[in-house]
Amino acid sequence: MAPRDLSLIVKDLELAIGLISRGTIWRAGETLNLIASENVMSPLALKAYMSDFMHRYAEGKPFKRYYQGTRYLDEIEVLTSKVMSRLLSSNWVELRPISGTLANAAVFRVLAEPGDKAAIAPVQAGAHVSHTKFGTLGALGIKQINLPYDEENMNVDVDEAVKVIESEKPRFVVLGGSVYLFPHPVRELADAARSVGSGIVYDSAHVLGLIIGGKWRNPLLSGALAMTSSTHKTFPGPQGGLIAFSEEWIYKRVSKTIFPWFVSNHHLHRLPATLVTALEMEAHGEEYAKQIVNNARTLAESLAAEGFNVIGEHLGYTRSHQVLVDVRKLGGGAKTATLLEEANIIVNKNLLPWDKPEAVGDPSGIRIGVQEVTRRGMGKSEMKYVAELFRRLLIDGASVERVRDDVIELAKSFREVKYSFDESAFGKRLVTLLDVIS
Ligand SMILES: *Cc1c(COP(=O)(O)O)cnc(C)c1O
Repeated sequence: MAPRDLSLIVKDLELAIGLISRGTIWRAGETLNLIASENVMSPLALKAYMSDFMHRYAEGKPFKRYYQGTRYLDEIEVLTSKVMSRLLSSNWVELRPISGTLANAAVFRVLAEPGDKAAIAPVQAGAHVSHTKFGTLGALGIKQINLPYDEENMNVDVDEAVKVIESEKPRFVVLGGSVYLFPHPVRELADAARSVGSGIVYDSAHVLGLIIGGKWRNPLLSGALAMTSSTHKTFPGPQGGLIAFSEEWIYKRVSKTIFPWFVSNHHLHRLPATLVTALEMEAHGEEYAKQIVNNARTLAESLAAEGFNVIGEHLGYTRSHQVLVDVRKLGGGAKTATLLEEANIIVNKNLLPWDKPEAVGDPSGIRIGVQEVTRRGMGKSEMKYVAELFRRLLIDGASVERVRDDVIELAKSFREVKYSFDESAFGKRLVTLLDVIS
C-alpha cells in the first residue's frame, strides 16, 4: 500500500459528506417522490433505527441464539412477531429475511427442489423479477410456468389459470406483484392449487400496508399458504423482509432453513424500527390505507382530466396505491421519467401489459405510487395539483425550472410524517446510540 496521504483521505471524506448531505436534502426535502416501492419512516421509527442492535449478531432464534448478549433483542424480536401476527391474522411470522427477495427465496426453496415447476402471475400482471427465471426462481433452478393473462381485466385469467395449474401441477403458485392496480385472484385459485398438492405464495411487498389497513384482501384469509413481503413500501418501515404463514408445517420448515440457508445475521436494527412502524400501523393504518387508495384514484382521474392516457379507466383506474400512465405519445417512458426528474418529480419508467420484455429500457409507461406523499399529508387537492404540474411540464411544455420551483415549494410544505406517533412525546425516553457514544 502507498503511504497514507491524510489530505487525500480528508478530501474523499469531504466529498462523501457533501454527497450524503446533498442527496438527503434533495430527495427528502425537495422532490415529489412518487416511486411506488418507497416510503419514509417516522421520526420515532428513525430514532429506534439508531439503536445499538445495528452492531450486534444474533444467529438463530430468540432465546436460542448462538451468541451471548442478545437478551433485549430477543424480547424485541418476539414482540415484533406478536404485533405482526396480530396485524396479519397469522400465528406464524418470520422476521429474519433481510429483504423481500430473500423472503421469496426461503419459501420457494422449501416448497420446491431444483428442477421442479412453479406457476407465476406473468410479467403483464406485475410479476417481480424474483418470481422469474431471470431472478431468484431461476437461481434456485425452479422452472417458471406463466399463468395466462386476461387483458380485459388486467389480471390473471382465472379459468385458464385453473387449467394450467391442473395440468402442470406446479409445486407452488406465486401471486402478487410489483406493478398492479387490482388484486390477484387468491381465493379463486386456492382450491385448484390445493387439489394438485400445491399452495399459493402471495408476494405482498407492495401492498402490505394496504392489507394491514384493510384496503386489500389479506391473502392468508383467502387461502394462501404463505405471504412474503418487504417492509418498506406501503408498509412504511425500514428496508427489510418478512414472511407470514397460514399453516404451521411450512412455518417450521422455513424457520429451520432461513438460517443458515439465506441469512446469517438478520440486520438487527431493522427490528425496533419495524416494531415502532407496526404499532403506528395498528393505530393509524386504517386511516392511512384509506387515504392512499383515495389519493391514487383521485390522481388517476385528475391526470385523465388533464389529458393523460391513464391505464384501466374501464375498471375504475386503480384499487392499489399505484397509477399507470401510457406515455408513448409523449415520447415514451424513458424520456418522460427523465424529464419529470429534472423537475424534481421522481417516478419510474415501466413496462405496460403490451410491452415486450426487450422494451425494458424504454417502455410505454410510467408507474406512479402515492403512498409516500400520502404519508406526508397530501390529500385530494394536492393530487389535483400534482396532475396539473404533470400537464404543465409534459403536455404544455412549460419550462422545467418553473415547474421545479413549484415542486420544491410543494415538497417543503409537506415534510411532516403523518399517521405516526408524536416524537416529542415518546421520543424523549428513547435512548439512541448517539446519546451513548460520542
Ligand atoms: C419490491 C419487491 C420485492 C423485492 O423486495 P426487496 O425487499 O427489494 O428484496 C419482491 N417482490 C415484489 C412483488 C416486490 O415488489
